[in-house]
Amino acid sequence: MTNLILFGPPGSGKGTQASKLVEKYGLLHISTGDLFRYEMGNDTELGQLAKSYIAKGELVPDEVTIGMLKNKVNANPDVSGYIFDGFPRTIAQAEALDAFLVEKEDDITALIALDVDDEEIVGRLLNRGKTSGRADDNDESIIRNRIEVYNNETSPVFDFYNKVDKAFKIEGVGGIEEIYGRLTQTIDGLL
Ligand code: ADP
Repeated sequence: MTNLILFGPPGSGKGTQASKLVEKYGLLHISTGDLFRYEMGNDTELGQLAKSYIAKGELVPDEVTIGMLKNKVNANPDVSGYIFDGFPRTIAQAEALDAFLVEKEDDITALIALDVDDEEIVGRLLNRGKTSGRADDNDESIIRNRIEVYNNETSPVFDFYNKVDKAFKIEGVGGIEEIYGRLTQTIDGLL
């Protein structure tokens, strides 16, 4: 199996690139942000819980997020691999993901990080907020909180996979096709 983690700060283009990558490599795209938005859209219990964190730009608690992720993977066993987008976002999530894959005699192939600086991120998210309908993209203080959470809690996940030589960083500023080219070059070098 090919199991990729597409990594990077909010607004770094993970979702855009993941949709293109799944077509090329035939993988299943799992975005925890999309899963939460689906639950919120249906106003489920999980959705209501997630909303109370997402609205503030905080992370949804690990147990909840990990449980939801496992359900999604277990519901889709017949695939040639996964692209995880927005997960893992904490070291605890990374450890849980690794342990979960070990149970399946599988592992993470690579984590690929899209490198985009903070000011570019703020601009992109405010811009996305004009059309995305996402409340968390509309308020600059919430956006800055998401970036802070990323820098404090999520960026250590890069080092976690770097220690086992599975982390790669690519320049995330440029045209969509240009960045896609950098990603596929990196991925093709691993397969
Ligand atoms: P972005 O990458 O633009 O911030 P996402 O769609 O990935 O957007 O996530 C939106 C929100 O959903 C996050 O700000 C966070 O509150 C919540 N979320 C998504 N994935 C996770 C996760 N792995 N752990 C905890 N919270 C998450």
